[in-house]
Amino acid sequence: MSTDHYDLIAIGAGSGGLSVAERAASHGARAAVVEAGRLGGTCVNVGCVPKKVMWFGAQIAHVLKDAPDYGFDLDVRGFDWATLKRKRDAYVRDINDWYETYLADSEVALLRGRGRFVEPHAIEVNGVVYTAEHIVIATGGEPIWPDVAGAELGITSDGFFELEQLPTRVAVVGAGYIAAELASTLRALGAEVALYLRGEHLLRRFDSMLREHLTETMLDEGIDIFPRTRLTEVRRGADGRLSLHCEQGRESAGFDSVLWAIGRRPKTHELNLQSTGVEVNESGYVVVDAWQNTCVKGVYAIGDVTGQAELTPVAIAAGRRLADRLFGGQAERRLDYENIPTVVFSHPPIGTIGMSEDDAREKHGGAVKIYQSVFTPMYHAPTRRKVKTAVKLVTVGAREKVVGAHVIGQGADEMLQGFAVAIRMGASKRDLDDTVAIHPTSAEELVTLR
Ligand SMILES: Cc1cc2nc3c(=O)[nH]c(=O)nc-3n(C[C@H](O)[C@H](O)[C@H](O)COP(=O)(O)OP(=O)(O)OC[C@H]3O[C@@H](n4cnc5c(N)ncnc54)[C@H](O)[C@@H]3O)c2cc1C
Repeated sequence: MSTDHYDLIAIGAGSGGLSVAERAASHGARAAVVEAGRLGGTCVNVGCVPKKVMWFGAQIAHVLKDAPDYGFDLDVRGFDWATLKRKRDAYVRDINDWYETYLADSEVALLRGRGRFVEPHAIEVNGVVYTAEHIVIATGGEPIWPDVAGAELGITSDGFFELEQLPTRVAVVGAGYIAAELASTLRALGAEVALYLRGEHLLRRFDSMLREHLTETMLDEGIDIFPRTRLTEVRRGADGRLSLHCEQGRESAGFDSVLWAIGRRPKTHELNLQSTGVEVNESGYVVVDAWQNTCVKGVYAIGDVTGQAELTPVAIAAGRRLADRLFGGQAERRLDYENIPTVVFSHPPIGTIGMSEDDAREKHGGAVKIYQSVFTPMYHAPTRRKVKTAVKLVTVGAREKVVGAHVIGQGADEMLQGFAVAIRMGASKRDLDDTVAIHPTSAEELVTLR
């Protein structure tokens, strides 16, 4: 068996693995990534990127509905899912190809195949053993399938991106952001959608204003939401359609698709981690300290496989900082996991950073002061469809330090990035008040709240 040696090997060429390897190489390290699937990982192939393309499609569907109120006399003869999918897939393939060139230009070796540890500093890929001083586990995650009879009749978010046509009637099962995004996109594109939640609320971990507002808007858009539902079985009827059966004895029939969006699990099972002594927690996530170190010297983990803020920019930032620390002479460089902004690409979108009101009250009690407002954005002035926007600032203490900012409404996705900079720098309510508003926008509401 031949062996090859690198300074750093990342297992997984997704957001995290690509970033750590590229940054390591830019510091002069000999770096490689191992990839069993398509370059770019979840985000590029079955996550952020194709999801956002679909979200744009759904946004166009909404605009087309509003267009007559702006005076347009339109004759929309239909929507062809296959066209959108073809163009989306081509875009994704271009990114896959681009990454191949990017790796070559960055002088990062691409080791194609499934990587598994043979010992803490040695990995086997297709029968070849590669060793490295530093090995980064960046294998990401995968959707969870429920333990329910007939679950295989459904699809997960991965399957959503393989759908060749728009399902006419879909059951989306789940309460997280992926369930919210896919349900509202499918609805906007014309599917009948039923959303099944195990608990009481959609987006349980988000600020209550966001989840209440989104739930209301989804109901207005015609999505049926069923809270407190425990599914026990999926069956295919003689007509080929699927029915859902739940613990309470209820049955809903007539679905042509059941989409499981009940969470994700880390992809560690094929890594032979036992040969390394790397610790995983009870859910299988690799345990790391604040510097992405596992308990084994020279073995690190970044991104979704660690279970911390499972987002692309987080995996990228953790990877780049790790490489800066290992090869860039920046011994203290690491990712601060506080105040990570994020967007839910629902309709309307959500932008959020920092603490929810409930979390802030639990931590800071009476020192919390909330500023909020609900309004109809100007876009809807002439339209019959009215989708409100809601904004909230969570502040703490006499200085009214902003510890949370939450927005749901048109433009929220593009609005929050700049506020995130201010909040990360410790902005107070007064700092926001002292910032001159941009008019007329929805964003100005965040600097004019009383
Ligand atoms: C539907 C959906 C929508 C999302 N939308 C967003 C969004 O809008 N914004 C956002 O920030 N995040 C979003 N995410 C999350 C985002 O995709 C992830 O946080 C991000 O991809 C994590 O990067 P990663 O490098 O940790 O893992 P991944 O991107 O999953 O990459 C891991 C790679 O490792 C490879 N691999 C695994 N095991 C092995 C092995 N043994 N050998 C070789 N290769 C291996 C896999 O094939 C994969 O390519 C979304 C996710 C989903 C599922």
